[in-house]
Amino acid sequence: MTTHRGMATLTRANPGAAPETVTPEQPRAACEDHPDRDEIFYPRKGESYDRARSLCRRCPVRDACLALAMDAEGGVNAPSRFGMFGGLSPVQRAELARAS
Ligand code: SF4
Repeated sequence: MTTHRGMATLTRANPGAAPETVTPEQPRAACEDHPDRDEIFYPRKGESYDRARSLCRRCPVRDACLALAMDAEGGVNAPSRFGMFGGLSPVQRAELARAS
């Protein structure tokens, strides 16, 4: 099973992050601790990203999440991108990369 690695993972569970960089005052990712996170953010072929998109829409770290995903993915094409990050699907992130 794929594990969603949104900002929640990158900021709170990144083993490389210094513990003092994670404080209770930091905004919490909307997907953090969501029980269906993997299924929602990595839908099967033919399934919708709507539930993930809804969570991302109200996420306080959305911009940073998208920036991290774009950096991590570089200029790869859509089939090499996976999951919803920063409110954008793999296809949408590939389009954004091409437009940049
Ligand atoms: S923008 Fe979406 S994927 Fe990124 S941390 Fe927020 S809810 Fe998770």
